[in-house]
Amino acid sequence: MCGIVGYVGKQNTVDILLNGLKRLEYRGYDSAGVAFFSEGKIVVEKKVGKLRNLENSLVARRRDGATQGAGVGHTRWATHGEPNFENAHPHQDCAGRISLVHNGIIENYLSLKRTLQSEGHRFASETDTEVIAHLIEKYDQGDLKEAVRKAAAEIKGMFAIGVIHANDPSQMVAMRRGSPLVIGVGNGEAFIASDIPALLPYTEKVIFLDDEELAVIRPDRWTIEGADGRPVDKEVRRITWKADQTEKAGYAHYMLKEIHEQPSVILETARRGMALDAAQSERMARQIKEASQIYIVACGTSWHAGLIGKKMIEKMTGIRVEVDIASEFRYRDPILDSKTITIGISQSGETADTLAALHLAKEKNSAVWAICNVVGSNMTRVAETVIYTHAGPEIGVASTKAFTCQLVALYLLA
Ligand code: GLU
Repeated sequence: MCGIVGYVGKQNTVDILLNGLKRLEYRGYDSAGVAFFSEGKIVVEKKVGKLRNLENSLVARRRDGATQGAGVGHTRWATHGEPNFENAHPHQDCAGRISLVHNGIIENYLSLKRTLQSEGHRFASETDTEVIAHLIEKYDQGDLKEAVRKAAAEIKGMFAIGVIHANDPSQMVAMRRGSPLVIGVGNGEAFIASDIPALLPYTEKVIFLDDEELAVIRPDRWTIEGADGRPVDKEVRRITWKADQTEKAGYAHYMLKEIHEQPSVILETARRGMALDAAQSERMARQIKEASQIYIVACGTSWHAGLIGKKMIEKMTGIRVEVDIASEFRYRDPILDSKTITIGISQSGETADTLAALHLAKEKNSAVWAICNVVGSNMTRVAETVIYTHAGPEIGVASTKAFTCQLVALYLLA
């Protein structure tokens, strides 16, 4: 998984990055690192092991408040290269002027690495990530955004990246393809993060980046371009979750807290119901009447919710339901047409395989619905009908309350 954060503004950058990483620690914990400006230069600090090790090495930086300007941070769950110091993010170019954090996998990294090495680039790690830093260096002619765009054009795979350049302490560049990334809009400051909980102490205004979108973020303004290089007008959304919902509230573990939250969030999900307007209800009713087949596509725990949902829906509607693991779905040529309904289930609404499955279903004219916990997330924009669970933020990696709320939503739907 991995968690990335970024900040640009007037507060103590190191402090904000560490606070953000703390809230994303569940996304990766084999090493952690930050890159920030100090006396006009980029400093990288990283440590193997838990985030606490990094925090301990940055106590003074955090306290003296002297670190301002752009910065990026990362908590790693290794995919390429063992969890050690060299492989910890942020990664840099040869000159140490570009620093970058990455969540995802670069599938063609080996061939890119060989080419870059033959061109003289020196690598310090075994990660797939480091090739991005060197590619950006290769294309850097003074415009970081353009260099990132050119680098992205050569990359195959999935990524969300946050990049800073020594030339400009008041800017960070972010881009995504397949991995989640949210921009937080503050007052004279801005943030990026893999997940919303990292932003909640600072702002409730967020922009969900879509695939291929490239953002240039400054304290007081941002621009976002689509794949074609044209500016896109993005909606700034308001998140209703509160920061204290992402604290442990006296429990020893998030998971324990989340188990105990179930009575209230189940009630909330049931009480709010499907919350559809008349037009949506009519469309759904029509689609159900015409449906010959329902597919539920999901990953992990959401897939297990789907298995139970199948029983509920088949029993109450008499329509056949198939449940697929989203990553398998699109490779098995599912029979999709306008008489099928495809329902994606995801807590975050950012599960890459489930999103890909829903895109495929949409292409084949299937009705596309979603059961999701995050308002405004990608999945809620791909689906024409969304049934929300109201579980609040779930930090525990083993899903509990999000799962039980999904069952409630499936029951309501059935
Ligand atoms: N592939 C990168 C690494 O191994 C990022 C890992 C991830 O996002 O899970 O460092």
